[in-house]
Amino acid sequence: MFLTVHAAAGVVAGTFIPNPLGAFAAGMASHFLLDRVPHYDPPIVDGTAKDGVLKNPVFRRFVAVAMFDLAIATLLTIGLAARLTPNAWVSLAAGAFGGVLPDLLFGLYRLTDSRSLRAYNTWHHNNHFNPKKYPVTFVSGMSTQLVTLAFCLFALFSPLTT
Ligand SMILES: [Zn+2]
Repeated sequence: MFLTVHAAAGVVAGTFIPNPLGAFAAGMASHFLLDRVPHYDPPIVDGTAKDGVLKNPVFRRFVAVAMFDLAIATLLTIGLAARLTPNAWVSLAAGAFGGVLPDLLFGLYRLTDSRSLRAYNTWHHNNHFNPKKYPVTFVSGMSTQLVTLAFCLFALFSPLTT
């Protein structure tokens, strides 16, 4: 899923859990749950920097999309935090950070080929929904993300919860 959606889910966790550590943990848990929802991800190739992926145009495009996505996720988090008191936005930011960290670690592994991250990377990959079992198209795979994002924004702005 896009980091923007993961950050939004983390913001929801951080809004309802006033403890920053708890918010961070819940944000992270939301990431692993959402990875199981069938969704569209931009194309990427296997391998790490050691295998030369940094020269691969598909990988480079993935990194460019991820950087743009991270910028949007950051702006969204700042925008949602701005309406809160400084005390509340620490938890909100911790939730958002927990929401995106699992994919940042995935990116770090691809860029560094760090041995300590390899086992994590395999686990994170295996935790993802199986596209062979649940095939998604661009439209259906984007729709599940839009619905998730809308659900998060509804949770944040619904008169029932604010
Ligand atoms: Zn993930």
